[in-house]
Amino acid sequence: MISSKDSYGISFQTPIFAIMSSAIVKKFSGEELFKNVISHAKEYGFIFQSSEIYDGLSAVYDYGQMGVELKKNIRDYWWKSMVQLNENIVGIDTAIFMHPTTWKASGHVDAFNDPLIDNKDSKKRYRADVLIEDHIAKVEVKIQKEVEKAKARFENFDEVMFVSTNPRVVENQKKIDEINARFKTALNDNNLEDVKQLILDLEIVCPISGSRNWTDVRQFNLMFSTQLGSVSDESNTIYLRPETAQGIFVNFLNVQKSGRMKIPFGIAQTGKAFRNEIVARQFIFRMREFEQMEMQFFVKPGTEIEWYEKWKAKRMQWHNSLGFPQSKYRFHDHIKLAHYANAAADIEFEFPFGFKELEGIHSRTDFDLKSHMQYSGKKLQYFDSEDNENYIPYVVETSIGLDRMFLAMMSMALNEEVLEDGSSRVVMNIPPFLAPYKVAVLPLMKKDGLPEKAREIIDELKLDHLCIYEEKDAIGKRYRRMDAIGTPYCITVDHQTLEDNTVTIRDRDTMKQERLAIDQLAQIVNQKVSMSLQLAKLM
Ligand code: ATP
Repeated sequence: MISSKDSYGISFQTPIFAIMSSAIVKKFSGEELFKNVISHAKEYGFIFQSSEIYDGLSAVYDYGQMGVELKKNIRDYWWKSMVQLNENIVGIDTAIFMHPTTWKASGHVDAFNDPLIDNKDSKKRYRADVLIEDHIAKVEVKIQKEVEKAKARFENFDEVMFVSTNPRVVENQKKIDEINARFKTALNDNNLEDVKQLILDLEIVCPISGSRNWTDVRQFNLMFSTQLGSVSDESNTIYLRPETAQGIFVNFLNVQKSGRMKIPFGIAQTGKAFRNEIVARQFIFRMREFEQMEMQFFVKPGTEIEWYEKWKAKRMQWHNSLGFPQSKYRFHDHIKLAHYANAAADIEFEFPFGFKELEGIHSRTDFDLKSHMQYSGKKLQYFDSEDNENYIPYVVETSIGLDRMFLAMMSMALNEEVLEDGSSRVVMNIPPFLAPYKVAVLPLMKKDGLPEKAREIIDELKLDHLCIYEEKDAIGKRYRRMDAIGTPYCITVDHQTLEDNTVTIRDRDTMKQERLAIDQLAQIVNQKVSMSLQLAKLM
């Protein structure tokens, strides 16, 4: 861990996420960042491996005392932005177990498969689609490098012109288009031999063994099954839900009728989902038990693409509201549409291991409701009183993994700064309204009535905010600990406090301290960490 040297009273001007003049942000990157995120998450109580004392369970994780707060705050921010800010969206909380026919109707029993391929030398198993996508990403990097090189050379650089005329770029783009076309056709035809042939033609090697000694591609169903009741026979087989969406679809009419909802309207849900992921080695990016935050928006047929575009924009706005650089996000339009979709895109985030899916936005047509109608024999239709017609609504879905969002947050927020005096600090620049603890209250010394005064301040703030009290160690060390868990404000009680009822409040990002009257504290802290002010930016 990085040493902490600064002492009580140091103040620097360091605005968050900006180039700083007095503190150099030595942002970790790539593998180093990923390793640091994992070790920091454990060391400071954000994330532990599940059942660690038994050597852990692969791709299953527990959230610690800090993690549970950060996760809850991200979930709340999503929930409020969806349900509280939109009059026509309501929430729901459905069971993890569902009638097994649900998963026949949704297509998960027959088609929730990953195409897998093994390398015979390393004995490692890979998702065939991921191998191909990684290969495409490498060609994209080559194009990007050409663009950057040219940009640096020419003053009035015209990127569009360059990309469409430079022979090397054009050649590489052609390669990407050809790969995409072959890949799309092979997947759409469920032609696994062609998928393998594509991997061979692209000369993709196993990252571990370096060889091209591949098995055939096979499909593998990702659902976990278990038995209902005490008798174990096949008719009692039920599944742990692999997505929360189906709980929304089967309740569509219940919610619409009991809530007298008029189309367009949405139903939101957060909750656990389970997938027997094969390639599961990216910490909380790909877990076997994870949490989703999903919203299904029911619309009139024919208007779905318009709503799809609106939700794409709205969801990107939500991500941008967190204050991380926009360049960290991008859309990726699906080349192969799932069986239920007529348009689909991912919001990708630049994780330490590259751009990967963080959220999916899918125009799901009437596939799910229609299919549940067929399998259940119940009418899942809507009567549109304005147009005097009955129809099965179309659906636009937004689906984000809470754990992936957590990982995105940790990898953006974790920074190492070299300060003016040459010392350094590790700081988690979590947006204050999402931070686990909002305030730390620190008596400068453990005597002279300072602890009692600090407790009084905590009592005043704790009804509204999660506060932490710390009296052990020198004040500079305590500041560093608070920086490392992302506490945005430290309130220090010193001898002057006893004389004039003032305290210092230290800002995590700028390290600046201000002296304030205690009776101003609640108001100022409320403002600084307010989720409502943040939500107002989304309106
Ligand atoms: P991927 O292609 O990465 O497997 P997916 O396309 O199967 O993801 P969706 O079915 O669209 O994912 O699920 C919606 C969201 O749920 C994803 O965008 C992701 O954030 C999250 N998610 C999916 N699978 C996992 C997982 N195994 N662990 C953590 N989060 C997940």
